[in-house]
Amino acid sequence: MQLTLWTYEGPPHVGAMRIATAMRGLHYVLHAPQGDTYADLLFTMIERRDRRPPVTYTTFQARDLGGDTAELFKTAVREAHARFQPEALIVGASCTAELIQDDPAGLAGALDLPVPVIPLELPSYQKKEHWGAAETFYQLVRSLCGPAARARREARAAGELPARPAGPRRCNVLGPAALGFRHRDDLAEIRRLLAALGIEIHHVAPLGISPRELATLGEADFNVVLYPEIAGTAAAWLKREFGQPATTVLPYGSRATEAFVREVAALAGVDPEPALAAEDRRARWYAASVDSTYLTGKRVFIFGDATHAVAAAKVAAGEMGFEVVGLGSYSREFAREVRETAASLGLEALITDDYLDVEARIAELQPDLVLGTQMERHIAKRLGLPCAVISAPVHVQDFPARYAPQLGFEGANVLFDTWVHPLMMGLEEHLLGMFRGDFEFHEGAAPSHLGGPARPAAQALPEPLTAEPQPQAAEPAAAPARATPAVAAAPIAAAAPIDTRWAPEAERELGKIPFFVRGKARRNTERYASELGVATITVETLYDAKAHYSR
Ligand code: SF4
Repeated sequence: MQLTLWTYEGPPHVGAMRIATAMRGLHYVLHAPQGDTYADLLFTMIERRDRRPPVTYTTFQARDLGGDTAELFKTAVREAHARFQPEALIVGASCTAELIQDDPAGLAGALDLPVPVIPLELPSYQKKEHWGAAETFYQLVRSLCGPAARARREARAAGELPARPAGPRRCNVLGPAALGFRHRDDLAEIRRLLAALGIEIHHVAPLGISPRELATLGEADFNVVLYPEIAGTAAAWLKREFGQPATTVLPYGSRATEAFVREVAALAGVDPEPALAAEDRRARWYAASVDSTYLTGKRVFIFGDATHAVAAAKVAAGEMGFEVVGLGSYSREFAREVRETAASLGLEALITDDYLDVEARIAELQPDLVLGTQMERHIAKRLGLPCAVISAPVHVQDFPARYAPQLGFEGANVLFDTWVHPLMMGLEEHLLGMFRGDFEFHEGAAPSHLGGPARPAAQALPEPLTAEPQPQAAEPAAAPARATPAVAAAPIAAAAPIDTRWAPEAERELGKIPFFVRGKARRNTERYASELGVATITVETLYDAKAHYSR
């Protein structure tokens, strides 16, 4: 375990909370010290849910450790059952409580409550939030559908497995959970697609399902798996026990949505063509439209959970015409899928849960656009790069009041808008560069879409040393060639690296370079000057560095 300022995933019991909070009629008793109740805020403050998660914490304190914490836990379970009257309970321990080894499973079992009590073994020091969510969902499905699965096994052994009743095929939709990135809106889009195909949904799980309803998941004909990180393990078990096939395509982007519709139609035995013909695919037309040629070949860095990162890379490369220059994920359990997709794009995947590694890679690659999580949003902001959020971990603005799915044809439209607009704003800023010197659009002004108040021009840049412009300043300022990454440039015949400073007129010249490549131009010039032993960067040094890195 590593102390960190930011983390991509919480401990596994936060994953369990995401399942419990998504469901109805389930209660979670968590053996946890005072202070661990912070996790409530994820749901009430970030997701803006209108009620607390259905979790009872034992909230033991330091002084309780000398006494009977096991009794404390039993009392909490008994009282939670009496107060909330749930259809089922899940019980477990948080990281700290795991260390005192009170055995929540045994203690809850000894209470002999009249509802199913499902113990969770979530190793906090080896596993993380998504794994915790998947394991909790799997344990719930396995234990609540267990009696039906047993009956089916016995009927099959006796050769009495009933034939499937005639009529339209029904499916479960598995994966949407609390605190998921756009799960609420994705689900609405999937409901719409399935309705267009005439397919009935038996249950959605875990979002909105009760333990009693969950026990009947096995009655559906097949499963639509939206987020393998959460529903993959449970779907595999349902396939083994009930023979339910599961979808393999995630409907992310226009092409994948079409493939998903065909896959679902094949599982349900219906014709996909009428539903596909009725769809208005704006994203596809927009991506091929005239102004999108400005966007072709833009260099994109992608990082997120495996599902979203892999899907986003395919859309970026295959539908938008971007060049994916970096791809990575913090989902170690799904690293293989990410590596395969990265390899298909000629890249080596970045698999890490250390945001400093991600920041270093972004700074090195200097992409035109970052698609990432809240972490990458912060990183991109600091580096002055356009960014769109595509994956958990999320922040409050990722739960918009409006409808903004990521999946399905409407999701593809949303992706187009949210990825392309930061770049178009970049182009506008470029044009606004023609008005540099104006009180609002001077060189020191930050890109307007990245926020921040306007600064008066006088404050932004130091006065030039001389009134006469340098001869080079008359030439159009241009950024170092994008196609020639700094790391690939020829080595500089070097003096020992030294500290450098910018002459005011060179700083002014740098300000004329469009903001989205200014950071890279600054870094390349400083590196060039430092390695050549140039203490003061002049306009000449700036252009020499440009010539060097353009070679
Ligand atoms: S001990 Fe575990 S649950 Fe408690 S604050 Fe730390 S990470 Fe969170």
